Amino acid sequence: MELHDLKDQLIGKSIEDQLRKLAELFPGQVVFTTSFGMEDQVISHLIFENNIPLEVVTIDTGRLFKETYTVFHKTIKTYQKRIKVYFPDHEAVEKMMTEKGPFSFYYSKENRLECCRIRKVAQLSKVMEGMVCWISGIRSAQSENRSWMNWLEFDEGRKLFKFYPLFDWSSDEVKNFIKRKNVPDNVLHDRGFVSIGCEPCTRAVAEGEDFRSGRWWWETDGKKECGFHLK
Ligand code: SF4
Repeated sequence: MELHDLKDQLIGKSIEDQLRKLAELFPGQVVFTTSFGMEDQVISHLIFENNIPLEVVTIDTGRLFKETYTVFHKTIKTYQKRIKVYFPDHEAVEKMMTEKGPFSFYYSKENRLECCRIRKVAQLSKVMEGMVCWISGIRSAQSENRSWMNWLEFDEGRKLFKFYPLFDWSSDEVKNFIKRKNVPDNVLHDRGFVSIGCEPCTRAVAEGEDFRSGRWWWETDGKKECGFHLK
């Protein structure tokens, strides 16, 4: 299917109906990846509450906040649904940590990208095997880099569609939805953490600071991505 054909099938529908349509068009070939941030929690809620048959997956890097595991726990308890977990290749992690120690990512961008590649990106490639569409919680307002994206794209590198159901939502809309629907939420958001990733590489940001500025804050080249969504 061409991108414009899929766009025609999704445009103007509610998010629930868009998700249902994707599940119907590509059974077993649509995956939603969650890292339990607030946008992801909204999408999980919509999938689980509406019993939409989509695969929900998370990548456990081994370096997550305990608060993130708490949201994971609450989410599966609340909705009584399954979230599939991918974990890094243990031999690659053992080798990296034996050779470079537990905080190699602070010392060079190369080391940081190596760690992200081993702990996240390699698992993502496994998740995407055989998939036609990848759903994620990206919003256009999250960063300058993301404002150039589109709510539905074709990723030439991975050869799949990418759908961002909350692309046009504001941060307040996401927060209000979570409150109104009593969606399990990460308590770190209340402590100034906006984009939550691995514990050693995430910190709280001040009011008005860029959404991604709390990630890899010691890097200064501006592109705060782990390799998932680089264009
Ligand atoms: Fe490693 Fe940090 Fe990337 Fe997590 S965010 S995979 S700890 S470099």
